[in-house]
Amino acid sequence: MLFEDIKEKTALITGASGGLGLHFAELLASLGVSVTLAARRGAALDDACASIAASGGKASAIQMDVTDSASVAAALAGKSFDILINNAGISGASRALDLDEAEWDRVLDTNLKGVFVVSQAVARGMKALGRGGAIVNIASILGHRVAGNLSAYAASKAGVIQLTKALALEWAREGIRVNALCPGYIETDINREFFTSPAGLDLIKRVPQRRLGHPRELDGALLLLASAAGSYITGSSIEVDGGHLVSSL
Ligand code: NAD
Repeated sequence: MLFEDIKEKTALITGASGGLGLHFAELLASLGVSVTLAARRGAALDDACASIAASGGKASAIQMDVTDSASVAAALAGKSFDILINNAGISGASRALDLDEAEWDRVLDTNLKGVFVVSQAVARGMKALGRGGAIVNIASILGHRVAGNLSAYAASKAGVIQLTKALALEWAREGIRVNALCPGYIETDINREFFTSPAGLDLIKRVPQRRLGHPRELDGALLLLASAAGSYITGSSIEVDGGHLVSSL
């Protein structure tokens, strides 16, 4: 059966205390994957792990700041994974003329350096075990196009798409596939309120499907990239955006 192979596998999901990261962790756990949820504050994950366990899943939590390679190394010492979902990310929202260096560094360190640091640590473990693996980087349609006040975010996500290709090239020989998933606007707790505002409603009108996506609408692409169903896919990016990238210019 499709996706059957991921049963009994292990997965690390970064930024898993809420939003899409928690959704991906719950999805993988529901299919039998042993999931490790990572976040900067381990305690924030206790409820999530308990809820996954109550539904019959296997979940554990680790504390990790993806911008800090020492924190990543300490959190991952002695651990290995078959699947890595690089989901941790932040946006920032400043005009380029006002954007200060600290915000630029925060966004690039989290969204781009963080993907590299965690991928490298996990891929070393995958190589040591010799079983290969699958890495899915959560990029964004803003890695392909731009929007106002999001220069650092757009640059970081474009970097993630290019990093995905570079890592796919180098790690194919280790049996490690590296792909990117580029969501469009997906409704989560942090943006729900914005999308009821006039600016938010205006934005929805520019999506060809005239609506936001639901986290579950990312499931097919995520599972394709994480499982043997995507065994010949590496270095790719899949957009799931209601047609937003093909909106009329
Ligand atoms: P979110 O803010 O709910 O989730 C981001 C998670 O990353 C949070 O749990 C946060 O604690 C964690 N995080 C931030 N900095 C971290 C760090 N230094 N170390 C470890 N964890 C850290 O947002 P979301 O909407 O669920 O976004 C998840 C991913 O999807 C992000 O990479 C985001 O850029 C991407 N994305 C989201 C949308 C959307 O519409 N929701 C669209 C495109 C891309």
